[in-house]
Amino acid sequence: MSPLPTYDSMIPEAGLRAALALDRPRIISEIGASGLKGRGGAGFPTAVKWNFAAAAQADKKFVICNADEGEPGTFKDRVILQEHADLVFEGMTVAGKAVGAHEGILFLRGEYTYLRGHLEAVLAGRRDRNLLGKGILGSGLDFDIRIFMGAGAYICGEETALIEALEGFRGEPRNRPPFPVNTGFLGRPSIVNNVETLAWAACILGRGADWFRSVGTEKSTGRKIFSVSGDCARPGVYEFPMGLTVAELLKEVGGEDAKAAQIGGAAGQCVPAKDFGRSIAFEDIPTGGSIIVLGPHRDMLDVLHNFLEFFVDESCGQCAPCRLGNTKLLEGLEMLRNGTCSMAYLKELCDLGGTMQVASKCGLGQSSPNAFLSVVENFREELMGRIPTHA
Ligand code: NAD
Ligand code: SF4
Repeated sequence: MSPLPTYDSMIPEAGLRAALALDRPRIISEIGASGLKGRGGAGFPTAVKWNFAAAAQADKKFVICNADEGEPGTFKDRVILQEHADLVFEGMTVAGKAVGAHEGILFLRGEYTYLRGHLEAVLAGRRDRNLLGKGILGSGLDFDIRIFMGAGAYICGEETALIEALEGFRGEPRNRPPFPVNTGFLGRPSIVNNVETLAWAACILGRGADWFRSVGTEKSTGRKIFSVSGDCARPGVYEFPMGLTVAELLKEVGGEDAKAAQIGGAAGQCVPAKDFGRSIAFEDIPTGGSIIVLGPHRDMLDVLHNFLEFFVDESCGQCAPCRLGNTKLLEGLEMLRNGTCSMAYLKELCDLGGTMQVASKCGLGQSSPNAFLSVVENFREELMGRIPTHA
């Protein structure tokens, strides 16, 4: 069975044809009525983002699809691009009409180079069918899409680092504001949307806002694609309505005996079993779709070690809280593992994590201490056994 039943059921081109029949504000108001929020993790309302870019005055605007999927445990965009690239490109074209852009760029993760041939073929097919190019389907819309290859840096998933890389510079985050909707690629208004967000935008135009918001919660409407990995019987990519509980999800994937679920990738929260009744939704536990199931035998320090090594490697090094903070957290974790971390030092590490959350320049440093802090909070007993009693 396909993991993406709703995408499978979409009528090809329905979203694009509907968008071509509407004026720009009506397209954005349909997206707004659906309640669609960004599926990359942050959950920013898509219509608000599109409105900002639509309102901006410029000679050029850009639609950028962020396919630099790099969060550990996240692989749903890869499957969407493999199986439903047409829907993603349709969403980009709809967005182009909505904001007044004529150029779309798919920023593809370097590790997904093997997908490029397939994606270029889908783009060529769309040009042949006049779904891209000049005067799309006899309308006045000119829009085309090109692919830009990432080079393997996790930080380029951060939208301003992505734009720096697109411009040919080293991929390092910029200060925000200004946000890309005003000052993006080449200084022009640019919307940067996740692969899944754009695919849902095409579905919403095709089937209507009411259809989309008929599932989910009031603040987190619609369905979501999840990447599930770790200690469960059926890892893979799944489509679920927003708002399902962690327990419901774990039952579906065969992970009922988990002691924790890491939700939102390495940068997310480590949710202990006592909280499995909480829901996966922007108003409770937000996620870009990564669920790592942690079975009863897992040593939480090993889990954290893995995450922190990743952040030490992937920090761009631009700001001190992230560059030094992740290194200090990793060192502290190693002290915990070899029994040389005192209670007082553990408290200092938690204070450091709090400082990183507020003082780091971008989302990487702001979220990299999350897992550490949630493990200290929720698995205190497991950690206490690693702290010398005299310390
Ligand atoms: P953010 O909340 O700062 O911004 C989200 C989006 O809204 C951005 O596009 C931003 O430009 C826009 N935005 C926010 N405020 C705005 C304003 N006032 N005006 C105009 N636009 C505005 O989040 P972020 O730092 O861009 O992204 C962090 C998220 O990315 C995290 O939630 C994390 O889960 C996720 N993430 C995902 C992956 C992945 O592989 N999918 C990897 C790393 C991080
Ligand atoms: Fe670079 Fe980390 Fe600072 Fe982000 S928080 S700018 S990744 S050093």
